[in-house]
Amino acid sequence: MPKLSDPLRPVVGDKAAKRLAGLGTGLRTVGDLLSYYPRRYETRGDLTELAGLRDGEHVTVQAMIAAVSTRPMRNRRGSILEAVVTDGHGSLTLTFFGKGRQDWRERQLAPGLYGLFSGQVSTFRDKRQLAHPEYELIGVGAGDSARAAEFASELIPIYPASKDIASWQIADSVRLALASVEIDSDPLPAQIRDKHRLYGYARALTAIHRPEDMRDKSRAELRLKWDEAFMLQVVLAQRRRVSTEYIALPRAPVEAGLLGEFDRGLPFELTAGQQQAGSTISADLAQAHPMHRLLQGEVGSGKTVVALRAMLQVVDAAGQAALLAPTEVLAQQHQRSISQMLGPLAMAGQLGGAEHATRVALLTGSQGSAARRRALLEAASGGAGIVIGTHALLEEHVQFADLGLIVIDEQHRFGVEQREALRGKAAEGRPHVLVMTATPIPRTVAMTVFGDLEVTELTELPAGRSAIATHVVPTAEKPHYLDRTWQRVTEEVAAGRQAYVVCPRIAGDSDAAGDSEAAGRAGTRAGHGAGGFAEDDGLRLAEDGGFDLGDLGETEQPRRPALAVTEVAADLKHGPLAGLRLGVLHGRLGPDEKDKVMLAFADGQVDVLVTTTVVEVGVDVPNATMMVVMDADRFGVSQLHQLRGRVGRGGHPGLCLLVTEAPAGPARDRLDAVAATQDGFALSRLDLEQRREGDVLGAAQAGRRSSLKLLTLLKDEELIGQARQEAEELIGADPALATQPALAAAIATLLDPERAEFLEKA
Ligand code: ADP
Ligand code: MG
Repeated sequence: MPKLSDPLRPVVGDKAAKRLAGLGTGLRTVGDLLSYYPRRYETRGDLTELAGLRDGEHVTVQAMIAAVSTRPMRNRRGSILEAVVTDGHGSLTLTFFGKGRQDWRERQLAPGLYGLFSGQVSTFRDKRQLAHPEYELIGVGAGDSARAAEFASELIPIYPASKDIASWQIADSVRLALASVEIDSDPLPAQIRDKHRLYGYARALTAIHRPEDMRDKSRAELRLKWDEAFMLQVVLAQRRRVSTEYIALPRAPVEAGLLGEFDRGLPFELTAGQQQAGSTISADLAQAHPMHRLLQGEVGSGKTVVALRAMLQVVDAAGQAALLAPTEVLAQQHQRSISQMLGPLAMAGQLGGAEHATRVALLTGSQGSAARRRALLEAASGGAGIVIGTHALLEEHVQFADLGLIVIDEQHRFGVEQREALRGKAAEGRPHVLVMTATPIPRTVAMTVFGDLEVTELTELPAGRSAIATHVVPTAEKPHYLDRTWQRVTEEVAAGRQAYVVCPRIAGDSDAAGDSEAAGRAGTRAGHGAGGFAEDDGLRLAEDGGFDLGDLGETEQPRRPALAVTEVAADLKHGPLAGLRLGVLHGRLGPDEKDKVMLAFADGQVDVLVTTTVVEVGVDVPNATMMVVMDADRFGVSQLHQLRGRVGRGGHPGLCLLVTEAPAGPARDRLDAVAATQDGFALSRLDLEQRREGDVLGAAQAGRRSSLKLLTLLKDEELIGQARQEAEELIGADPALATQPALAAAIATLLDPERAEFLEKA
């Protein structure tokens, strides 16, 4: 009897095997085929009443093919194939136009077959028809007894089919495979099956393909989802375990250190969440193995202070901390604001410096050579307790005296490989790692996508934050609203405040934006994370107009190019904002220039900053209270939320206007959703729901055998949580899976060599 790992050919025959090999990522083994699940199920014999169809309706009908014929076109090359389908009373004509002959289709649409046909109903010469319908053939009514039995079953499985093989042909092969396969082991441990009352593996495979009823199908699906969730979590639990086996220098808090003094001088109270996160991290740092923690926070929740306090604890314990920022703008801003927050505490060796004071160094790729040499020396000598930088920190010649903690701001742009590069810089053991997200994501997604990290969340905002009122400005219907928008900007400036105008592109002449950060980033994408679960760009949305969520599935016509910073700035300067001091910021400016513009804006020398999404992450200018986002529909939901987090940071209420030409529809609905809520977790959920699961998990899975077929990270949160707990318990008791050979084997099949190699590296 064939096993799941055996080839399909002897089971289904040459012809079917060849066609199946062309399906999906290639079905080659019996197990491949049995893991090729139906897309949906049709209820038997629910033939659609064809008489009831109305012109213009988009319908899917279940019907039997009664006749088929092909004739050449009269005035052109090509042919017209007509198939008549029936529900027993009425009939409907399916029309297919072909460039050549359509023999293959004529053979496929054989009279007597039942099928599902979908398309738009129209009437031509008094005949109801569907022109070029999509169809799936599901079996025959009489004649072939096996197929008749299939058709007589309550639920008909409908498989994702191809031009070469129809759904019912796949079902035929599945039937053959199910009838002969021997399934003698179960990857899911028996005690988990019992505890959660799950089907055994063989039963689940049978029921997913040939369910007795919907309940049977649901139980099969639940069991198979467990397989996916559990194996994923076992791999992640193993990774987390491996990392706890590494050694790190413990950095316990000390009395009378910088941290205590910093806390005493804080101009505000820490939120409960900041305190909670702070003590968790503090305890982590005191351990003799490296912390791997993800700090998720709502935009503006105050992650920086939490990170800074962790860095001070490490400095107090005679170590150094590195803060890795995704852009130069952000690195510079961190350096300024951290130096300012620390005051005398960061003025070691200077007049007015505090007693155990340290120093803050900045290292970026574009620094002048003198500044750079100084920073390198500060890092290598240990003179700087805190070293802030961009990717330049990752370079090989950057050395630290005693690197104890790495903080990575706005995670998405750094991948596993970058973290690895920094980890290698600790003198002894490994440094502790704290990762901060730019955009909060649902917890199960975080736990899975960043599966090797423990997750901490900051959900509340500091008290006294003003709300950010957000409105959509639909210029297609209400062009005069745009004038009103610029008038509002003028009023805001007259009241002594500042504004951002954000555009999706840099310059009118470029089709791809190529902001330098964006360009730099392309080379820094993480290849893939655990088991191919990427943790880098999967969650990252549009940047500077190169691509955007708006393009997902809803573009019919080519759109005009997105608005560009340089053009909009010129228009505003000579038009509605004439007389205001405008600044221009984007990634193509030189670093000095960028810094100058940012400083001038922070300083109040610039009223309105026209910019790309360089301001998206972390930029903090409290006097900026208004943001106008041009072509807002070209940005992702989470990104808009992140962007508007730049305003309303001081005591004044923020205002964000989302300008769009998009007509009412899905694109506008997304903007309305942003306007309606300030809950970043809810918005990121919305964002993720619109993406395919593979995108959620990350680009690394593209083109490979996907390990998630039934499980969805967003809808199966509870199951994933349970699976994670079970996996932790199992790995705690049996790290090498010695007692679970079937599970170990299933996981080995799941992880292809490339993935396995990566796991070893990490
Ligand atoms: P994010 O989490 O988005 O990175 P930041 O760390 O930039 O947020 O913090 C945003 C602003 O809130 C900063 O100006 C910071 O000084 C301020 N802030 C942080 N924590 C508090 C607090 N507990 N009370 C008041 N203001 C705070
Ligand atoms: Mg931040």
